[in-house]
Amino acid sequence: MTNSTNIYKEVQRFKTLLAAVWLLLMAAAACDQPEPSVVEVEVPGVYAFVNVNVVPMHEEVIHENYTVVVEEGRIVVSGPAEEVEIPDGAHQIDATGRYLMPGLSEMHGHIPGPNRRQYAKDVLFLYISNGVTLVRNMAGHPYHLELRDRVNNNEIVGPTIFAASPWLSNNTIAEPANAEDVVREYYEDGFDLMKMGSLSLDSYRALAEASREIGLPFAGHIPEEVGLIVALEEGQMSIDHLDRYVEFLASGNPDTEGVSPGFFGSAVVHLADEDRIDEAIELTIEAGIWNVPTLSLVEHLESPQAPEDMAQWPEMRYMPADVVEGWIESKHNFQSRDDFQPEAARQLVEIRQKLTHELYNQGALVALGSDAPQFFNVPGFSIHHEMEMMVAAGLTPYEVLVTGTRNAALYFDMENEFGTVEEGKVADLILLNDNPLEDIGNVSDQAGVMVRGSWWSADKIQEHLDEISNR
Ligand SMILES: [Zn+2]
Repeated sequence: MTNSTNIYKEVQRFKTLLAAVWLLLMAAAACDQPEPSVVEVEVPGVYAFVNVNVVPMHEEVIHENYTVVVEEGRIVVSGPAEEVEIPDGAHQIDATGRYLMPGLSEMHGHIPGPNRRQYAKDVLFLYISNGVTLVRNMAGHPYHLELRDRVNNNEIVGPTIFAASPWLSNNTIAEPANAEDVVREYYEDGFDLMKMGSLSLDSYRALAEASREIGLPFAGHIPEEVGLIVALEEGQMSIDHLDRYVEFLASGNPDTEGVSPGFFGSAVVHLADEDRIDEAIELTIEAGIWNVPTLSLVEHLESPQAPEDMAQWPEMRYMPADVVEGWIESKHNFQSRDDFQPEAARQLVEIRQKLTHELYNQGALVALGSDAPQFFNVPGFSIHHEMEMMVAAGLTPYEVLVTGTRNAALYFDMENEFGTVEEGKVADLILLNDNPLEDIGNVSDQAGVMVRGSWWSADKIQEHLDEISNR
């Protein structure tokens, strides 16, 4: 990838920031009280997970009867229980028969904006309540920079945030000549990446050039005028929602001429040539571009379940009523669209499953994301639905967990920081009641979550969830 050095510089900036934040966090813990906030923050302490089965995720293995010691937000020891000395005063967590895995990353999340601050803070808690300890926020607003910093300073509870700029469109970049100024502004504001929306081809190319020059990556949608091939050539860091793959597969068919592609290619999916999947994947691999499939985005709209019934899922009580109402309406609207009639929608789901499976299988870069809160995706809870869908698409539970743990660290070039249960890594951890490699459903059966060294037992999590549902 031609922009890799710039992206690398950017990553170094993240790392420096992370180190600075850590020092601040430690200073805050040492002196005065944290600011009042919705959810009280537990200060990271010394913890020992005793007799635990570790699912380290650096390879497909389980270390039985280990003890894992956490100090100052990091894993300091992970070894056989009989060999590990538990430090005096450590808070011991009896983890006999349980499984300890790395926290999950939601690589396509959305955090609400400043006009709904309570909702935004609740969303942060919903993420961690389900073991999501990192969110790449794809709905950008300067408010998220403030939230990111407050989370890092341990003032409010939430996952580590990587914040995308506001959605790039022909409104923000009216002509190619504006691109550089816009990128520079977002870079100086402190955004971690830019969210690609819809741009003209010329503006897209100008944006990509400025992105490489300034060292601020862009990711998200592929504009219709741009298409898959140009996005790969221009080094878009991630393609989200498998955008424009179906259009690419159908592009050889003359019947696509003049046809608007519809929702993620739904209007041309019957013309897609599946024999071109390998070619699409090969080009993706060559370009080194990530995919964040967000299968649930289409599957929740396609499923035969009535939206009113989906609104009865237990986790819906944590969402504001108007948001759920909006989802019900969306599903009805989609079901009445000409390009989303059952057969096309089903074909779209199947081809997206195939693409996801083949991308992973053939060695393309895939990261886990569910696009919460969109279309019945309650933050945190939705990552578990997405993982089930990835398994249904053909990945093993281990492979799915790779996309949600280690691969997120690889995406940010921070493999030494997080993503596995190993000494030296940030203590973002989930304690499970059962083996996640046997059944992906076991990942939602949690005894507790550790967020940067602060322990949240399942009971304490439920207490705060109850508060949210009572709002
Ligand atoms: Zn999104």
